[in-house]
Amino acid sequence: MHCPFCGAGDTKVIDSRLANEGDAIRRRRECQVCSERFTTYETPELALPRIIKRNGTREPFQEGKLRAGVLRAVEKRPVGTERVEAAIRRIVRRLRASGERELDSQVLGEWVMDELRHLDEVAYVRFASVYRRFQDVQAFREEIERLEQALSPAEKAAQLSLLLDEKSLVNKSD
Ligand SMILES: [Zn+2]
Repeated sequence: MHCPFCGAGDTKVIDSRLANEGDAIRRRRECQVCSERFTTYETPELALPRIIKRNGTREPFQEGKLRAGVLRAVEKRPVGTERVEAAIRRIVRRLRASGERELDSQVLGEWVMDELRHLDEVAYVRFASVYRRFQDVQAFREEIERLEQALSPAEKAAQLSLLLDEKSLVNKSD
């Protein structure tokens, strides 16, 4: 680490100890050029990154907003609250582990889709359709067709009625 006093390229650690009840490491450093001493603290980067929105503005990550989006996608689907909460915890952990200061909302959206894909396919397609704002209409149609083919006739009937709203919206945007 550079010396903040004279700008020398290197400083020597002369003491290192735990601080804040073990949550940080406090280091005493000494400049080999000007002999000034200073202290640094090493702490894990736990702050969640800010989210870069489509229009380029930034906002703090809001767990409530994430939860609302996920709950909207799983509405009337057989997905228990516990599984929803576990998915949200995984997304938040992933955000935290990224260590980024800012994260594109697109990336966050992809992570949500990763989770929804495992929770419930209909919820996944719903979220993807809203999230991608029907920009990729063809991909959305293919996803629905893939879903339909994978289901039994009874499941197909049940899921199709749920997908109808989204499907008609897509057709309108053509
Ligand atoms: Zn110095």
